[in-house]
Amino acid sequence: MKSGYHLEADEFRRLGHQLIDWIADYQQKVETLPVLSQVKPGQVRSLLPAAAPEQGESWGRIMADVNRIIMPGITHWQSPNFFAYFPANSSGPAVLGDLLSAGLGVQGMLWTTSPACTELETHIMDWLVDMLGLPAHFKSSQSGGGVIQDSASSAALCALLAGRERATQFSGNEKGLRAPLTVYASSQTHSSIEKGVKIAGLGKENLRLIPVDDHFAMRPDLLAAQIARDRKEGFLPCFVCATVGTTSSNAIDPLPAIGSICRQEGVWLHVDAAMAGAAAVCPEFRNLQEGLELADSYCFNPHKWLFTNFDCDCFFVRDRAALIQTLSILPEYLRNQATESGAVIDYRDWQIPLGRRFRSLKLWFVLRHYGVEGLRFHVHQHVDLARQFADWVAASEHFELAAPRPLNLVCFRHKGGDEINRRIQERLNQSGALFLSHTVLNGRHTLRLCVGQTHTALNHVQKAWELIQAAAQD
Ligand SMILES: *Cc1c(COP(=O)(O)O)cnc(C)c1O
Repeated sequence: MKSGYHLEADEFRRLGHQLIDWIADYQQKVETLPVLSQVKPGQVRSLLPAAAPEQGESWGRIMADVNRIIMPGITHWQSPNFFAYFPANSSGPAVLGDLLSAGLGVQGMLWTTSPACTELETHIMDWLVDMLGLPAHFKSSQSGGGVIQDSASSAALCALLAGRERATQFSGNEKGLRAPLTVYASSQTHSSIEKGVKIAGLGKENLRLIPVDDHFAMRPDLLAAQIARDRKEGFLPCFVCATVGTTSSNAIDPLPAIGSICRQEGVWLHVDAAMAGAAAVCPEFRNLQEGLELADSYCFNPHKWLFTNFDCDCFFVRDRAALIQTLSILPEYLRNQATESGAVIDYRDWQIPLGRRFRSLKLWFVLRHYGVEGLRFHVHQHVDLARQFADWVAASEHFELAAPRPLNLVCFRHKGGDEINRRIQERLNQSGALFLSHTVLNGRHTLRLCVGQTHTALNHVQKAWELIQAAAQD
């Protein structure tokens, strides 16, 4: 007689092996599946029962429904023909690391709740500082340190809160906000900054969107002028977000000029390199982050372009004390000797939630499996493929480049106007052969081809170019 309803260890072992087989089969065939899911709104739900099952069901039935209900509703981010948005990488070592994290099921909110969860994270964040050529003060052995957040949005919010608190001598948290604080980003900055401004209670009206130059990069002269105007009118500037690799076009804001303004003004500078930051694993691309030594905080997402599945954002600060003072709480039930001794890091004070999972395991597996050499090889290859594609576009009679191509994103369009570009995109995406997304640059519909999916190779990019040209013909 069974004493409960749990999956017994031996049964778990058998089913787990089956599921790994299923995932490996998926990886092998994903290239042949239509990239963009073609289901209609409500279609997935219409196949699900109205209520949860009263009695447990067999594993066979569950997996049959994965195949029947779930898979048609999947857009295949892991297809090498996925060129839309930015990539959301996954890889074998990352999946296995995440599985191990789930199996251990630890909560890493305090050092003492799983010392390995904290210490591995601190250690590999220090590795990354060297691997990516980041400023040494981002290391835990110096004034700063790194922490893994769920997303670049959360990293930006933490940075914004720390900037707000530093500008108010940490009185904002205690007494509420008195002075009207202002925040600066470019018109191309990711929407997470606007969201952060709302969440931080600063008011969207106090977010200043600084215009950009011909290359869609922030104009530092206009930033300086806006800060001066705001100071004169009694505002308290507290935070600037600069971007290395904007979401729309991969524009690179001029960090040296923006950084020196922030230093002069005593304003927190956060640098968002969500996708492009991974490129710094290759020394030849590190010029793009020149000036980063002037930043107070920095983030990039291995879950975009460093073969580590979501969620994994690496967030670094120059002065960890400012971040901790902003986010620290200590209720009685979390008091413990290790914390009181001051000898350990408690990452709950470096993020918004209390609880945290063992995210560093998957990143550790990735770093150890690929080695720095392997990561460099694949990132470099993606950039080469994007360069190749951009060359084809530039040489073509009917298409043109719409923005500079610093790395792996090509912004381009058919010369025939918005209508034909929309038609090309829709045709290709409906066909399932590949998935492209778009942006609007200088008021014109612009196609984006981002090379960064883990398994994208020359043949996929070649095929994409052929299909794009064919789709332009009537
Ligand atoms: C993708 C992206 C973000 C948002 O990333 P999340 O991790 O999903 O929050 C922020 N900034 C830039 C530049 C991005 O490309």
